Amino acid sequence: MTKIKIKTPLVEMDGDEMTRIIWASIKQKLILPFLDADLKYFDLGLKHRNDTDDKVTLDAAAAVAKYGVGVKCATITPDNERMTEYNLKKMWLSPNAQIRGFLDGTVFRKPIIVKNIKPAVRAWKRAITVARHAYGDIYKAQEIVTDKAGKAELVFTASDGQTSKVTVADLKGPGVLMGMHNTVSSIQSFARACIQYALTEKIDIWFSAKDTISKKYDGKFKEIFAAEVSAAKQKLDAAGVNYKYFLIDDAVAQVMKNEGGMLWAMKNYDGDVLSDMIAAGFGSLGMMTSVLVSPDGKFEFEAAHGTVKRHYYKHLKGEETSTNSVASIFAWTGAIKKRGALDNTPDAVKFADKLEAAVIKTIESGRVTKDLEPLMDEPAEKICNTEEFIDEVASKL
Ligand code: NAP
Ligand code: MG
Repeated sequence: MTKIKIKTPLVEMDGDEMTRIIWASIKQKLILPFLDADLKYFDLGLKHRNDTDDKVTLDAAAAVAKYGVGVKCATITPDNERMTEYNLKKMWLSPNAQIRGFLDGTVFRKPIIVKNIKPAVRAWKRAITVARHAYGDIYKAQEIVTDKAGKAELVFTASDGQTSKVTVADLKGPGVLMGMHNTVSSIQSFARACIQYALTEKIDIWFSAKDTISKKYDGKFKEIFAAEVSAAKQKLDAAGVNYKYFLIDDAVAQVMKNEGGMLWAMKNYDGDVLSDMIAAGFGSLGMMTSVLVSPDGKFEFEAAHGTVKRHYYKHLKGEETSTNSVASIFAWTGAIKKRGALDNTPDAVKFADKLEAAVIKTIESGRVTKDLEPLMDEPAEKICNTEEFIDEVASKL
C-alpha cells in the first residue's frame, strides 16, 4: 500500500499518563501505517519538560507558529502533589496556557456526535461548539480581603500621567475586593479567531455577555465583536454565516431550546463554566475535541480532557483499562484535515475523513469504551478495553 504524503511538516506534541499510552497506539495503528508525514516531535511529557527547564514547551509553540498546524496529547499541569511525584525543579506552568499565550489563541471545543448516544438536552441535534476567550478577567485579577471598613477605589494612571479614579465601594465593615482587566487587542483577536473558525466550519456565531449590567466592560466586548463582524461582513455573507449578540442569560435559555450547530463565543469565565456543561450534556469528556486557533490562522488540535490519571494508575498496576481514545484520534484527524486543506492535498483530507468514519462506525455498531455504556440507547455490543477499541477502528481502515 502506498502511503499518503503530508506535504508540510506536522508538529506533534507528546504528553503524559494514560493519554501518552493511547497516543503511541494511535500513531502506531492508525496513523503511521497510512501516512508519510514529517512529524516534528516534541516531548511535552512532564519529565522532559522538567529536564529541559520547560524550554521544550516554548520550542513546540514556536514550531506550531512556524509550520501552522500541530497536534497535542494531554499533559499534566503540575501542582504540589506532582512536585513530589515527579521530583520537579519548579512548578512548571500549564503547557496549554503557555502555548495559548504564545499563539494568542482562542480555544474551540466541539463534541463528536454519534447516532446511538442522545444528548441530555432533547432539542440538541447538532454539535454546539464553545469558544472561550482565554485571556484576562478573573483569571488575571488581583484580590483583597479586608476585615476592616474602608473605601475601595479603582485608579488608572495612563502612560501620559493622566489619572481616572472611581469609588468601587464604601465598605462599612469587612469585605472582599477584586480588580480585573482585559485588553482591546486580546478581545479583537478573540473576535477574529471566532470569525475565522465560523467561516471554516460555516456555522453561525453567537456571542454572549452581560452588557446590561457591565455597560462599559462587557459593553466594550460587544462593541469590538460588532466592529470585527462588520469588517468581515462580505466574507460572512458569502459563507452564509450569521452573527447574533445575546445577553448571557438569554443565550443560556435559548441554547436549551435550540437544535445546535452554532459557535457559541463566551467570555473567559462563562466559557470555562459553560463549556463543561455543554460537554456533559453531549456525553463523555472522551468525545470532546479542542482546537486552538490563532488570529493569524495557526491551529493546534487536542482532546479536551486531561491525562486520565485514574486510568493510568490502574494501567500501572497491570489492571485492564477502558479509556476512550476518540477525542485523541479526532485531534489527529483534525490536524491532518487542516494540513490537507492548507496544502491543497485532498488525499490527506480524505484519509482523515475515513478515519473519523471508522471511529463513528465502531461506536454506532455498539463497540464502545466503558464511559459510553451508560449513555447508550441500546445495550453495548461489546465493552472494549483501551487497545481493543483502537484495534476495532484499525480493522475498518
Ligand atoms: P481528566 O484527565 O480529564 O479525567 C477526569 C475523569 O474524567 C477521568 O478520571 C475519567 O473518569 C473521565 N475521563 C476523562 N477523559 C476520559 C477518556 N478519554 N475516557 C474515559 N474517561 C475519561 O482530568 P483529571 O483527572 O482531573 O486530570 C488529570 C491530569 O490532566 C491533571 O494533571 C491535569 O493537569 C491534566 N489536564 C490536562 C489537560 C490538557 O492537557 N488539555 C486538560 C485537563 C486536565 P473515571 O475515572 O470516572 O472513569
Ligand atoms: Mg472548566
